[in-house]
Amino acid sequence: MSGWEAFSPDTLRSEAKAIAGRLNPVLLHFVEDCVGCALCEVNCPYTPAGEEYGPVEKAEPLRRIVRGQVFLAAKVLPWLFGARLPRSAEELDRWAELAYRCTNCGLCYITCPFGIHSGTMIQHLRYSLARTGRIPTLLKMMMDLEASGNVLSVEGFSKVWSELLGKLEGLGVSFDRKGAKYVYLPSLAEALITPGALVGTAKILNKLGLDWTMPSKPLSVRAPIANLAGDSGAALEVTRRIVDYVAGIGASTVVLSDGGYPYRFLRFDAPALLGKPLGFEVVHIVELLHEALRKGSLKLREVDQKITWHSPCQLGRMGGLIEEPAEVLSSTSKNFVKLESHGLLSKCCGGGNAIACVVPPTIEMFEGLLGGKIPISEKEKVFLDKLYKDMLIASKAKVDEIRKSGASTVITACVGCVHTLQLASKAHGLGVEIKTLPEYIAELLPE
Ligand code: SF4
Ligand code: SF4
Repeated sequence: MSGWEAFSPDTLRSEAKAIAGRLNPVLLHFVEDCVGCALCEVNCPYTPAGEEYGPVEKAEPLRRIVRGQVFLAAKVLPWLFGARLPRSAEELDRWAELAYRCTNCGLCYITCPFGIHSGTMIQHLRYSLARTGRIPTLLKMMMDLEASGNVLSVEGFSKVWSELLGKLEGLGVSFDRKGAKYVYLPSLAEALITPGALVGTAKILNKLGLDWTMPSKPLSVRAPIANLAGDSGAALEVTRRIVDYVAGIGASTVVLSDGGYPYRFLRFDAPALLGKPLGFEVVHIVELLHEALRKGSLKLREVDQKITWHSPCQLGRMGGLIEEPAEVLSSTSKNFVKLESHGLLSKCCGGGNAIACVVPPTIEMFEGLLGGKIPISEKEKVFLDKLYKDMLIASKAKVDEIRKSGASTVITACVGCVHTLQLASKAHGLGVEIKTLPEYIAELLPE
């Protein structure tokens, strides 16, 4: 029986206990203090795909689990106190459907007058569902590949990486160089989907004159994939691999070009997972650019192109880098325009939290790289087809504001956002160029 058909009440009960073990005052506040005002519904990218996909509705399964563990009355009479667990595979499938309609974008958290982050609750739900077998096959494959410690064991991935290494060697990049002050940490996902971001970042770091190096092999598929799937053991192993590598080089700073969840994870979540500080600073390339432009140590060529910025949720809203990218881009073009939602409430692209990474067009792309079919059951296929349809509905608001801006190029800094915007642009006939920030800036570096 595949994971998507399995139903084990015992696993569910032990997952409920595991969640109770992870409860802390913040999570308990999220679970308990909602007054049902529905303000968070307005900004959630998935509400347009169905009222049942509002933040409160999607977090309800987690609330049910917690109530049944924490409150005596709910333990005794679960059906009366909103603590009943699924009694069939179909009910559990419904929970999985809800859990995979959340990008963990933080819009509900910013909107809620009580600071309730439904995305965090939904993430905990996903972790438990993964252990009942409800995890997309491609996500599980990538998690296992990453945990193996050799993400280049797949021939197709190894070929892509070798080609990139050739380009980087041509730029004079030295790999695994001990004593370098900066380590640039790209991921396999960037090499596969946004290779221009790697080449662009290398050119920028060279131009800034920094003493830097990078791994000769990617250390992860994309920060710990396990962190998205709730395998804290595997996430810890990958995090230690990264930390040990940087310690071995002796670098004081890690530079990222991916401003998606790897940025948030390494800056904010990894020290908590490790239980100690990382021992180095984590910065995004846009921070180095912003600083160099502010000091006047870097001047970029100007263009007339009408450009705009899509802020990745984890870099902007959750990471605090909201105006820096806009200031960098506005220094390159008088025709830089901010999107209508620019700022704390910047619209989500709709594909984060591994959603765009598991939908059918991505599976096809990976099948090409893997050289064979990925074994996906009929039931999972139905799940993924519907997920893709809803993802395109969720991305529509972003597409509309990009169209309204009149920009011919949209710039962003997250491999997941690039991939989602490419899929959404094609589906909604947007017809703009989508570039990563390092790729765009590298073209404007002075000779
Ligand atoms: S984190 Fe984003 S996608 Fe998830 S429920 Fe909140 S607003 Fe919706
Ligand atoms: S905005 Fe906050 S209090 Fe209101 S429904 Fe959403 S989570 Fe509950």
